[in-house]
Amino acid sequence: MPKKHIATPSRTKEILSKYKFSFKKSLGQNFLVDVNILENIIKHAGIDKSSGAIEIGPGIGALTEQLAIYADQVVAYEIDKRLFPILADTLQDYSNVELIHQDILQADVAAAIEAHFPPEQSIHIVANLPYYITTPILMKLLRERLPVSSLTVMIQKEVAERMAAKPNSKSYGSLTIAVQYYTEASVVMRVPRQVFMPQPNVDSSILNLVVRENPPVQVEDEDFFFKLVQACFAQRRKTLRNNLTSFYKEKYDKETITNLLDSIEIDGIRRGESLSMEEFALLANTFFKLE
Ligand code: SAM
Repeated sequence: MPKKHIATPSRTKEILSKYKFSFKKSLGQNFLVDVNILENIIKHAGIDKSSGAIEIGPGIGALTEQLAIYADQVVAYEIDKRLFPILADTLQDYSNVELIHQDILQADVAAAIEAHFPPEQSIHIVANLPYYITTPILMKLLRERLPVSSLTVMIQKEVAERMAAKPNSKSYGSLTIAVQYYTEASVVMRVPRQVFMPQPNVDSSILNLVVRENPPVQVEDEDFFFKLVQACFAQRRKTLRNNLTSFYKEKYDKETITNLLDSIEIDGIRRGESLSMEEFALLANTFFKLE
């Protein structure tokens, strides 16, 4: 009889008990036990047999197995050494998976791509991410400008909404701008907490990030741009003028700031959440020229 998929409650329980595995909450270990959800993630990622896949945190191999089935080859980073003998067992039928024992935040992913995938292969990052470090992981992968087509990740619902937000919404903030500077972001599916073992205390969503070839705006200095955007959201309820006055308190007074905003036709009484990416770029470039 063919083996059941790893991502089923009965097989997962069997594997966990065979290896007497105890979950580490500190590593965000919530394993998926629903094959349909995994197939959905893979479909939204745009993966087919010609694709390369990079996974972060394979756990006992639930998503890795599906990637091995649907993609050409898979490279997966796992931090927890205890999972390697388990993965050697659960993934023994798949010869197209390479496991790397490393903290993804320390990993040289660009070098791994060069070593493991043929040039020109379309590569997709796919993960059910450990929730305690979702943002650092995604920002690291985006800032490194890896040669990947997309990132499709299961993350906490609220964080997914912030990354894919539109202006004038509660979720729109500096994280939105940071993510959408590099990618086109969309929330593709809500996922109930019942499909995880153990169940997390938060709801989840699948976020799809399609990597842009070029940023949507031209900025003089990226670090300065992101710093200024953060300053505009420092106190969400404050006006743009007041947030910028606090940010520049050593340098410019309120009147100078108001005049600068007037010169680019951005009303200082607006709030950060009403500014588009283009307006933030204009604002940052104007202030940068004065540095
Ligand atoms: N992919 C599996 C699944 O869907 O069932 C497990 C997902 S679980 C939410 C997150 C996984 O990431 C765990 O296996 C955990 O050990 C691993 N992990 C946590 N922090 C990590 C890090 N910094 N680098 C690599 N893996 C990490």
